[in-house]
Amino acid sequence: SSRALAGAIVTALDTLHRTCVTHEEELGQLDAVAGDGDHGAAMVAGSRGATAAAKEALAQGAGARTVLIRAGSAWSEAAGGTSGALWGAALTAVGGSLSDDDGADVATLVAALLAGIGAVERLGGAKAGDKTMMDAALPFAEQLRAHFDATGDPEAALAEAAGAARSAAAETAEITARLGRSRVLGEKSLGTPDPGAHSFALLMTALAQHIKD
Ligand code: ADP
Ligand code: MG
Ligand code: MG
Repeated sequence: SSRALAGAIVTALDTLHRTCVTHEEELGQLDAVAGDGDHGAAMVAGSRGATAAAKEALAQGAGARTVLIRAGSAWSEAAGGTSGALWGAALTAVGGSLSDDDGADVATLVAALLAGIGAVERLGGAKAGDKTMMDAALPFAEQLRAHFDATGDPEAALAEAAGAARSAAAETAEITARLGRSRVLGEKSLGTPDPGAHSFALLMTALAQHIKD
């Protein structure tokens, strides 16, 4: 049922939040190289706000769709900043792909994750090679779709996709940032992975592990 799925979504969000807490300092340090150093704090605040809002909606009897849509608004409000708006839009789009009345089969869940990434792509407008979280999210989406279509196994597909996100996030170190940053700051980022790509890979790795357990 959608209620059971909503409960599972709350525990998954809590896992994402704990992952952000574990990596807060590391994400802040990456962001300090060419950005303003707040990416760890933003991810912690956003995921905390999202988890709290999701729990509250669940307690009020909401289904999966509403739980995620509330979580998405809370993430952007609590985090502020660019990544907060993008993660908020992602959660809202995942929720918008689900129902408040019925559960979801695995194909629907995979499609919902892909819709979340689509929302980030549309809102942020970043392309591959712009040195943003999309450099991890695009290969993640491609591998998730390809492996799920080939095997029908969502756990294995998610694990493969998370691996692709980790490799792609590490490879962003070789890119000079172009988007939303001065050229000077962009050049400074050479040799350092993009913080948003790195946090995306960390969260999708945690999600894959969570779903396996
Ligand atoms: P802010 O830049 O507002 O301080 P954060 O530090 O939390 O926000 O997030 C920075 C990250 O946001 C970047 O490392 C990048 O991955 C991501 N980002 C920035 N702009 C975009 C965009 N247009 N599309 C996708 N991701 C983006
Ligand atoms: Mg920042
Ligand atoms: Mg900031």
